[in-house]
Order: sequence, then structure tokens, then C-alpha cells
Amino acid sequence: MTRILITRPLPETVLAPLAGYELTRREKTTPLDAEELRAALRDFDGVLPTLGDLFTADVFADVARPRCRVLANFGVGYNHIDVGAAKAAGVVVSNTPGAVTDATADIAMTLMLMSARRAGEGERLVRAEMWEGWHPTQMLGLHLSGKSVGIVGMGRIGQAIARRCHFGFGMSVKYVSRSSKTLAFPAERIPDLKALAGQVDVLVIAVPGGRETRHLIDAKVLGAMQKHAHLVNIARGDVVEESALIDALQKGRIGGAGLDVYEFEPRVPQALRELENVVLLPHLGTAALEVREDMGRMAVANLTAYFEGRDLPNPV
Ligand code: NAP
Repeated sequence: MTRILITRPLPETVLAPLAGYELTRREKTTPLDAEELRAALRDFDGVLPTLGDLFTADVFADVARPRCRVLANFGVGYNHIDVGAAKAAGVVVSNTPGAVTDATADIAMTLMLMSARRAGEGERLVRAEMWEGWHPTQMLGLHLSGKSVGIVGMGRIGQAIARRCHFGFGMSVKYVSRSSKTLAFPAERIPDLKALAGQVDVLVIAVPGGRETRHLIDAKVLGAMQKHAHLVNIARGDVVEESALIDALQKGRIGGAGLDVYEFEPRVPQALRELENVVLLPHLGTAALEVREDMGRMAVANLTAYFEGRDLPNPV
């Protein structure tokens, strides 16, 4: 019988199509450890992994002839899987694009608004019973409507954020991208990331993680931002050089930041936690039941397609 490993608890409805398979449902909510990663490749025909399950080249190297043929990732981001090493080992990889787009764009808007309007700081004030009442100059933030947003990575999520900014908030949209885009809203393509950073009120990161984008947002890019501007990262933590961001926030060189992801997730540095001018969310991008069900169904559809000899709907 085909053996499948599900590496985390998933919403109940998701696994029904796998009734005819021998399922191992891991109950832990933490990533696979070193031995579990190797056992996943060695002992199962298919694996449904997710964020944090680090299928690196070393793991593939340690399992000479993997029984596993398919890694059907739960999530659109797959920078935790070395796709080259997987291919070399004859293991196909898939992901769940599209299912995550709107929910993640919504969290980007949440962070933009919270950071610009100092919502986290205000909430802490109320909870600490420190609020002394409304007055005309209390907690003034950045008015977002009509301002400009810079999108770094104008893919599915980047475009969904841009649409919300344009249609919902009357913001002007600028972006950098490697390939040209046909967009259903006005947007100006800027040739250079630093130039983009210098022109916008909010800079939003929506590129995939991985070697190519690591520290794309470094001290130079942060240094190019305007003093009142906010940075929002819903992509992957290591796209932003966290130490440089902490420095910029501590010195008030930028207006603030809203983060859903962290360089050494789930560790969030004390220096960040101590700052008022940063909003910190625990990777909530897709955290809604129906979204997680859609992601799960998509990952399962890739598994069943593989074992029924059909083309994978979402190969990477
Ligand atoms: P996508 O449609 O593939 O868009 C990514 C965009 O980034 C593309 O427009 C792409 O190409 C650009 N890009 C890719 N590699 C790049 C590089 N090396 N340098 C510069 N730009 C690059 O992906 P998506 O569905 O929008 O998702 C984006 C990422 O968001 C995912 O990979 C994932 O890591 C993250 N995410 C986070 C959450 C969360 O919970 N916070 C949820 C879902 C996804 P062009 O430059 O040619 O346009």
C-alpha cells in the first residue's frame, strides 16, 4: 500500500481523498527533526510537508535511494526544500499557489494600517491602562489613503496587495520586478529597488525566500527609504536583513515596520519586541480555516495526481 506522511495536523476535511492510502499523521506542530526528515524520504512513498521541514541537499544526500517520490508542500513558499536536490533524487515537488493569495494580501493590509496608524502601540496603551483620553495631538500616525506603495515582487500576492491599495485606498502603486507585467490597475515600474524605496510611503515585500532574495532588503535599501516611510514584510523573514532593520527602527530612520515573518523564525529578537514602532505578527498570512482547507485540498490533489499517474496540478 502507498505510504504517505502528513507532517502536521491539518483541518479534518482535507484528508478525505487519501482514504485509500496508508496515512501516517504526525501530531506534533513543530518541524520535522533531522532523523524524521531522513525517515520521511526513506520510509514513505509521498510526503505532505510544510514550512520549517528543511529538506536540504544534506538530507537528500543522506538517503541514497529515497522511497519517497513526491513532496506535496502545504504552502506556496517552498524555500525550505532544495528543489534541485529533490529533482536529482527523482523526487517531484509541488506547492499551493493561489489558495494563499487574498488572505496573505489581507494580512499585508493589516500590517500597513497597523504600522502607519500605530495600532499595536495604541492597543498596548489601552491594555496597560495608560490611556489618558482623546486629544487632538494624541498618537498621530501616517494617513494611508492617497499615499504611495512600493511593491517588491509583483507576483500573485504583490498584485493582490497593489489592487487593494489602488482600489481600496486610492494609493499610487510603484513596483520593481524582473519581468514585465500586464496589470489591471495603474502602476509604475521602477528600474531599481533603492530608487523605489526612496519614492514610496510604504514598501511591501512579496518575493519568495531563498538564496537569491536573502537580505534583498539591507541597510542600503532601508537607508534609501524616507524617514516617515513604513516597511511591511509578508514574504519570508530572511529577505530582510533583520539586524539592519532593527538599527533603522531604533534610530528612527524609518517610520515603522509591520512584520509577519522573521529571519530566524519563530525566534523574534528582544530588540524588536522592545520597540514601539514595529508591529509583530506570528506568521498569520494564511491563518484562516477555509484558506488552510483550500491549501490542504490542493496539496492532497497533487499527491493523488502523482499516485494516479496524472500530471501534478502545481509542480514547482
Ligand atoms: P509569485 O506569484 O511567484 O510572486 C513572486 C514574485 O517575486 C514574482 O513576481 C517574481 O518574479 C518575484 N521574484 C521571484 N524571485 C525573485 C528574485 N530572486 N528577485 C526578485 N524578485 C523575484 O508568489 P506569490 O504567490 O505571490 O508568493 C510570494 C511569496 O510570499 C511566497 O514565495 C511565500 O514565501 C510568501 N508567502 C507568505 C505567506 C505568509 O503567511 N506570510 C503566505 C503566502 C506566501 P518577477 O520579478 O519576474 O515579477
